[in-house]
Amino acid sequence: MERIIIYGAGKIGRQYYEFLKLQKMDHIIEAFCDRNYKQIGKIGMAAVKDYHKLKGKGLPFVIAVFDSQEICELLQDDGQVYYKDIGDWINDYQENDMERIKMRLGYQKMLNLNWGGVKNTLDNLNEEMYKMVIEMELDRAVRVYGGYCPCCKKKTIFVSYHYWLRDHYKCIFCNSIPRQRGVMKVLEKEVPEWKQMKIHESSPCGSTFHVLKQECKFYSYSFWHETKPLGERLEANVTNQNLEKMSFEDETFDIFITQDVLEHVNYPEKVLAEIGRTLKTGGIHIFTTPMYPFQKTRSRIKMEQGIRKPILPEVYHGNPIGDKGSLVTYDWGGYDFLKMVDDISGMESRIFEFPNSKENFENGLEGDFLQVVVSKKIRK
Ligand SMILES: [Zn+2]
Repeated sequence: MERIIIYGAGKIGRQYYEFLKLQKMDHIIEAFCDRNYKQIGKIGMAAVKDYHKLKGKGLPFVIAVFDSQEICELLQDDGQVYYKDIGDWINDYQENDMERIKMRLGYQKMLNLNWGGVKNTLDNLNEEMYKMVIEMELDRAVRVYGGYCPCCKKKTIFVSYHYWLRDHYKCIFCNSIPRQRGVMKVLEKEVPEWKQMKIHESSPCGSTFHVLKQECKFYSYSFWHETKPLGERLEANVTNQNLEKMSFEDETFDIFITQDVLEHVNYPEKVLAEIGRTLKTGGIHIFTTPMYPFQKTRSRIKMEQGIRKPILPEVYHGNPIGDKGSLVTYDWGGYDFLKMVDDISGMESRIFEFPNSKENFENGLEGDFLQVVVSKKIRK
């Protein structure tokens, strides 16, 4: 259950209480105060407690009524409180649009237990951006957080209007989704010099595609059209490739990227071996794919003379080159899957995850199945 903490139970504290009551949030309020807490007794329905009791509670969200410095220090001892003084938006929230946005964001933040860097971000937006933000009807959003986008490298706001953040939690500038931001963040961390590297991506789309295409000189990519010849040049730097048998020489690439591709392949062993073959020794395969860490890998199909037969109810995901969507062929487990990757392709794999933390929130890294795997080729 969310909780809202009011620190300071005097006149302004009561105003906050009234405001939150209007938002029908009074049932989740707790109030704390200095040594006068006994005298004050209650604000609204909330019993006022000694603020020293705050320590060690791991509070989710705090409204500081006064002396924010003091409470900030107090709470920092807990080491995990995302503290923000939001006093400035409640008093005059109807003054103008800017205040309304802040109010809405603040309201969202309370619901989501976070404030993040939204206020700072808004303070840095220009007039045009303010307008855009107003039109976004952020009060309809289920998740809003301000921070820095690892894809477009801008101070931004991440917004989702849908509870399935994995596909809907977007940067307002580049429309990136969490897994794309995860891939960029891991790429930047693991291979800071990626712009000078030979990168290949299979079935690219979205924000990472635009960033890599613009910023990496040696970026190439491929799609698979069954009706076209293998290896055919489709455009500059684009070829027609079947991941089971690519037309590239051995040891061609420094970095191979697949995002949400591996759950759609018919012959994962062949694909993993091919990716391993085309990577230079020491090169890496960075990928995302939904993984179920506590399950064993489960095949959703069986192949009979090259024909795919579903053995489980069919599930489809979006496909960059077709409207029909791609059939999900494998539900990957955690450990058995990575062992398979390593055994087949001569790799050593590591999983990068993005647990709840201020830094990850500020990079828009939230959502289900948000893992990035880095497999390093350690032998020929
Ligand atoms: Zn962005």
